[in-house]
Amino acid sequence: MGLCTAVFKFFRRGKCLLLLLLSISVLAWVATFGSDTVWEAPKSSENLSKHVQYIIQKGEKDSKEAVSYGISALLPSSPPNRQHCPQPSPLLRGAIKLSFNPSLTLKEVERENNEVVEGQHHPMDCVAQQSVAILIPHRNREKHLLYLLHHLHPFLQRQQLHYAIYIIHQAGDVTFNRAKLLNVGYLEALKDHSWDCFIFHDVDLVPENDNNLYMCDQQPKHLVVGRNATGYKLRYKGYFGGVTAMTKEQFSKVNGFSNTYWGWGGEDDDLRIRVELQKMEIVRPAPEVARYTMVFHKRDSGNEVNKDRMRLLGRTPRVWKKDGLNSCSYKVLSVERPPLYINITVDIGRPLAQPQQ
Ligand code: BGC
Repeated sequence: MGLCTAVFKFFRRGKCLLLLLLSISVLAWVATFGSDTVWEAPKSSENLSKHVQYIIQKGEKDSKEAVSYGISALLPSSPPNRQHCPQPSPLLRGAIKLSFNPSLTLKEVERENNEVVEGQHHPMDCVAQQSVAILIPHRNREKHLLYLLHHLHPFLQRQQLHYAIYIIHQAGDVTFNRAKLLNVGYLEALKDHSWDCFIFHDVDLVPENDNNLYMCDQQPKHLVVGRNATGYKLRYKGYFGGVTAMTKEQFSKVNGFSNTYWGWGGEDDDLRIRVELQKMEIVRPAPEVARYTMVFHKRDSGNEVNKDRMRLLGRTPRVWKKDGLNSCSYKVLSVERPPLYINITVDIGRPLAQPQQ
């Protein structure tokens, strides 16, 4: 009876109601930890380009996308309210001593990079500023590829990027077509993930300084200002070859590369013309940072100098709209996903004049 009276008095004073309200608020507060993440852009984002800010806002969406692509195993296992990776990455080391050991094996490179799954990697404790697909056209350059993988994986991880390395392997022995392979790489990589940024990368160029960021900018970016073979000087003012970075939108705006450059040369100049026609401006990192070592090689057979390239360059302003991503016909023969890269073997046809073999 005494208890009943006490409860009654308690209710009358309204304390119980207050207690109830307090408990509900505590429960609601606890529940927010399990619900959608709230992204907090790092303070440094004030200095970042609009593009990067956009990526910061859509960071959460990317994580969800990864799950929907069935690659949730690759997502960092850190708490859901991860921050964006800081800029610059605290892991950068600057100039790196490169090594080209002739006895290096793929198994060793795999062991060194055991956190890479099917060519792909995410930073573990923060959300990458950009998701980047590295596209490498390839045929008969296994050793170069090995050296590049050996250096590029740790390099990209120090930059704290979400990245994947795609090798686009030209099947058969018809004349090589770097540009068309890169178009294929772009189109095929987008089937895996909606990459923010694409790096078009020669197999024989190894970056020497990890401050050379493999990220896209508001304008197309050319990453090879200098290389050992040319005294670290820009080859010529409009040079846009070797390694370039373009966002998904920039590359689609220029209709990608031309598909018509078979053999060595011209396709990178053609891309520059496309970029200029769209009133975009090529940007470059500082020369002391944008340095590469070119692994020595003789000119490959099947990639002879394209003597027709000057004529082709003359017609670019007339034909770019119908020669490019929208006219790139090819047949994917296989897609393999070994630990360190995604290998797309493709039949890209042959030059119009080249007879059937
Ligand atoms: C070619 C380019 C090449 C450059 C540098 C130019 O003549 O057209 O494709 O990248 O030389 O070697």
